[in-house]
Amino acid sequence: EELDLNEVRGCTKCVLCENRTQTVFGEGDAEAKIMFIGEGPGQREDESGRPFVGRAGALLEKEIAAMGLQRSQVYIANAVKCRPPNNRTPAPTEVAACSPFLQRQIQIIRPTVIITLGGPAAKLLLDIREGITRARGKWFTYDGLMPEGPQIPVMPTFHPAYLLRSYTAENRRRVWSDLQKVMERVG
Ligand code: SF4
Repeated sequence: EELDLNEVRGCTKCVLCENRTQTVFGEGDAEAKIMFIGEGPGQREDESGRPFVGRAGALLEKEIAAMGLQRSQVYIANAVKCRPPNNRTPAPTEVAACSPFLQRQIQIIRPTVIITLGGPAAKLLLDIREGITRARGKWFTYDGLMPEGPQIPVMPTFHPAYLLRSYTAENRRRVWSDLQKVMERVG
């Protein structure tokens, strides 16, 4: 809350501050074992100040429920805290400006596992080149807290908005398989 109130809400470190209605810090259990990270706020998130609302958020909540959890028991955040115009992918300079906030969120929460949602979030967090179709379902490691902090296992999966657009049995099976791997790891 201090990070949000004192640093993020008034942040003007990159041009994304110019068009935002408000920042979208993230929400959930500060001691969550599972942290979901998306790319950036969309229109509904910009209006509400909350991450993953609307149809994609509802599907994410279904996924969380399928894992036997409630939304309030996990933590949900984005790589950038302000909405990119027309929902474009955040520029590298914008991600670089905002990443210290995400890093500190991860540092505070210290989740057992991070789940990245969609290709851009995986690339931003893990600095990988492969697309989400290849990367999903495989374990990666977040090293951003090293050397003082632990390495954190990361499972990339499809973004719920993509899943809504391509709501095939195969894609649903893939996401469920990714979430099951996380459940096994978290215990
Ligand atoms: Fe600041 Fe991040 Fe918003 Fe850029 S996206 S203005 S760095 S809070």
